[in-house]
Amino acid sequence: MPLLVMKFGGTSVANIDRIRRAAKRVGVEVAKGYDVIVIVSAMAGRTNELVGWVDEISPLYDAREYDAVVSSGEAVTAGLMALTLQEMDIPARSWQGWQVPLKTNSSHSAARIEEIPTDNINAKFGEGMQVAVVAGFQGVSPEGRITTLGRGGSDTTAVAFAAAFGAERCDIYTDVDGVYTTDPRITDKARKLDKIAFEEMLELASLGAKVLQTRSVELAMRYNVRLRVLSSFEEQSDDAGTLVCAEEEIMESNVVNGIAYSRDEAKMTLISVADRPGIAAAIFGPLSNAGVNVDMIIQNISEEGRTDMTFSCPVDQVARAEKALKGAKEKGEINFHDLVADTNVAKVSAVGIGMRSQSGVAAKMFQTLRDEGINIKVISTSEIKISVLIDRKYMELAVQSLHDAFELDKSA
Ligand code: ASP
Ligand code: MG
Repeated sequence: MPLLVMKFGGTSVANIDRIRRAAKRVGVEVAKGYDVIVIVSAMAGRTNELVGWVDEISPLYDAREYDAVVSSGEAVTAGLMALTLQEMDIPARSWQGWQVPLKTNSSHSAARIEEIPTDNINAKFGEGMQVAVVAGFQGVSPEGRITTLGRGGSDTTAVAFAAAFGAERCDIYTDVDGVYTTDPRITDKARKLDKIAFEEMLELASLGAKVLQTRSVELAMRYNVRLRVLSSFEEQSDDAGTLVCAEEEIMESNVVNGIAYSRDEAKMTLISVADRPGIAAAIFGPLSNAGVNVDMIIQNISEEGRTDMTFSCPVDQVARAEKALKGAKEKGEINFHDLVADTNVAKVSAVGIGMRSQSGVAAKMFQTLRDEGINIKVISTSEIKISVLIDRKYMELAVQSLHDAFELDKSA
């Protein structure tokens, strides 16, 4: 039997009515002759509530107990979904992560999947079960304790199951109807993409287009799992949503396929550091040890043996970065005249695999920003992405004007 993985996010299982609606979608696929593995999230808002309770009791919580508590949201929806399907006369059974067992490492609250044995579930399919409903987000450690995969982790559960069971496709049902060229709240010209390449999706996901957990896209790319993102609130059709797939499946595409943004960035500059071998290591080592996620980096040319070093990081990590750098200065590991933080910046990025073969994208991006009078503070590029740091107050304007300049409202 061909097999499909269908994942329903929190809003799609937010109450009994919606669980029934989701179950109907599953019924449609079963009727087409598929065996289905359904991955469910917790009801919308439930995980936040559980995390809140843990924090209230124990701010410095034991991560094993955190996992025991927060995994419970998915335990409930898995059972309810199986019951709903049974009421529709579809043979269904629920599985908790440990029952599969979805084996992870011991990094509680951010566990990595190590293995998903398929024999238990396949044996049940062999006995006539048509739908296996699996609680997303959770697994079991080598010590036999419940683990969770990090917030948004049921996307990753879904992709991992699709890879392990060789599913034809992995459908991710959510509250948006696909992946857009940019955030539709910023410009109503944003267009839903029919297809997007894994690599582009990865850039968009990590740049703050919060449709899919970044890890799930990495996994999908590694195992070539075709992912379809679609809404559980709209009528189903075979070409609904956005297909996230290998580049080779996409015939024509725009040079730039998406404009992403990340609002809460900060830019930090170390003024006048000694320019000597090892200085970058001496600066970024302590930052990394302090858990600061450094993104863009620029080192100025030096004058008389001294230089300025600038980097960006999420705005809520500025205090941590300052502490780490001042600590390193006190220990004599680095030496700088001043440390300046600009906490009013945002990052805007143009993403597209077409950039590999087409030049002039950067120039066009910079001209567009110039025409709007927007000053660029930091630039970084990768093979398929150009990012700039600008004043946060111009972020929307930058996204709108770039979306226009690259004509993203029109398909290739
Ligand atoms: N319920 C978990 C969360 O809210 C996992 C998920 O839904 O993906 O993060
Ligand atoms: Mg999610």
